[in-house]
Amino acid sequence: MLNRLKEMGRYSETVQALADAEETLWINPRGIENTFDGSITQKDIDEAEERLQRFAPYIKKVFPETETSEGIIESPLKEIPKLQKRLSELLNYEHEGRLLLKCDSHLPVSGSIKARGGIHEVLKFAEDVALESGMLSREDNYEVLAEDRFKGLFAKYSVAVGSTGNLGLSIGIMSAKLGFKVTVHMSADARQWKKDLLRSRGAIVIEYPDSYQKAVAEGRKEAERDPLCHFVDDEGSLELFLGYATVGRRLEKQLQQLNVKVDSDHPLFIYLPCGVGGAPGGVAYGIKKRYGENAHCFFAEPTHAPCMVLGMATGLHDGICVEDIGLDGKTAADGLAVGRPSRLVGKALETLIDGISTIEDYKLYNYLKALADTEGIYIEPSACAAFDTAARVMQNEEYLERYGLKNKIKTATHILWATGGSMVPETEMKHYYSLASNISLRA
Ligand SMILES: *Cc1c(COP(=O)(O)O)cnc(C)c1O
Repeated sequence: MLNRLKEMGRYSETVQALADAEETLWINPRGIENTFDGSITQKDIDEAEERLQRFAPYIKKVFPETETSEGIIESPLKEIPKLQKRLSELLNYEHEGRLLLKCDSHLPVSGSIKARGGIHEVLKFAEDVALESGMLSREDNYEVLAEDRFKGLFAKYSVAVGSTGNLGLSIGIMSAKLGFKVTVHMSADARQWKKDLLRSRGAIVIEYPDSYQKAVAEGRKEAERDPLCHFVDDEGSLELFLGYATVGRRLEKQLQQLNVKVDSDHPLFIYLPCGVGGAPGGVAYGIKKRYGENAHCFFAEPTHAPCMVLGMATGLHDGICVEDIGLDGKTAADGLAVGRPSRLVGKALETLIDGISTIEDYKLYNYLKALADTEGIYIEPSACAAFDTAARVMQNEEYLERYGLKNKIKTATHILWATGGSMVPETEMKHYYSLASNISLRA
C-alpha cells in the first residue's frame, strides 16, 4: 500500500511515521485557509441548540442530575494550574499561557462527549416522530413527553447504533428513557461495564468479536430491514455533528465568565482526542465558527489507530484505513479504536483542523494519573490522548512561524478536552491508575 500511495503522490514522511506506529505531529498545510464547507451553517447549529432548549424541561424532569442546569446538558470549564505545572515537569518544557480542562468527562446523563451529539440525534428523532403524530407541537412544554402516551408512541419505533462504547451509552440511555426500543451493536473493544449498564437501562446489546466497523455495518443492516428503525450513523451523521457543534456558543460564554480573551493577540488552542472524528470534528467546527482563525484546533489519536490523520494526510479520507498501512487498530484507548475516519468530518474540516498528533498507549495512563494526582479529576485513558499535544505544537517552529505566534505564547489559552470518564466504575479506574509507568514522557 505504501508503494501505491507513492505512485499516487500521496505518500509523505507523516504517512511513513504512521505506518511505523511512531508518534508524530502532522501540521495541516491547508489549516491556514480557515474556510467553511457551506453545507453546514451557523443557522443549522443554532437550530440544534434551539431543539436542546425545547427539550430542556423534559430532560430536567427525567434526569434529575440536570436540575441545577435547568435541563441543559453542559460541562464545567476548569482552570488546572497544578496539572499545568506537572506537565511542565513531566515534559521538561515550560507550559506557558493558561491551561483549562473542558470536563465533558463529567457531562450529565452519559459521562462523555457523546452526550452532546448522541443525545441531540435521539431527541431530533423523537421530536420528528412526536410532531408527525400530531400529539406534540413545537410550542408545547416538552415535559409532556415523559407521559405514558408518548412512551406508547415511541415504543412503536426503534433506534440502532454501532459503537465502541460511549456513543452506545448516550444513544442507549436516551432512547430507552424516551421509550424507544434500542439496540446497541458493540465492537470487541467495548468494556463489559458499558454493556451491563446499557442492559440495566433496557437497551438490547449485541456483541461482535471484531472491529467497530463491523458493529456499525450490522447496525445499519438491521435498520434497513425495519422502516420504523432509526439508525445513528457515527460515520456520517449530520445530527450528531450539529449536536457537538452547539458547544461553540456555549464555550464562548464560559470563556467570558473566566475572563479569557480570544483575539489575534490572544489565541485559543483546543486539543481533542479523535476516533472516527464526529465528536472532535463537530466541536472544532462549532468553535471555529465562533472564533475563526483565532482558534487553533488539534486532534490526537493512538499510534495504532490514527485513522483521521491517515485520511487527512493522504487526502483519501474514508477511502483508506489503518489496516491498509499494516497497523492493527488495537489500542487501550477504547473510545479511539477506529480504523477508518468519518466520511463527513474529514471533508468538512479539510481546511479547519490545524493538526493531528499521535500518542503511544502507555502514556495515556501516565497522564490519567498526573491529572488525578494534581487536580483530583479522574478521566478515562482515551480522554488523555491530547495531553502532550500543546507541548508539541508550542515547540514546533514551523507552526509558530506560519501563524505568527512566537510572541503570543504567553497570552495564549489552551483547552484540553476531557472527553469521558465519570461513569467508569471505581475498580476499573483504579486499575487504569495502576497502569501508569515510570517511563519518561518527553513530548
Ligand atoms: C468517542 C470518543 C472520542 C472521539 O470521538 P469520535 O467521534 O469517535 O472521534 C474521544 N474520547 C472519548 C472518551 C470518546 O468516547
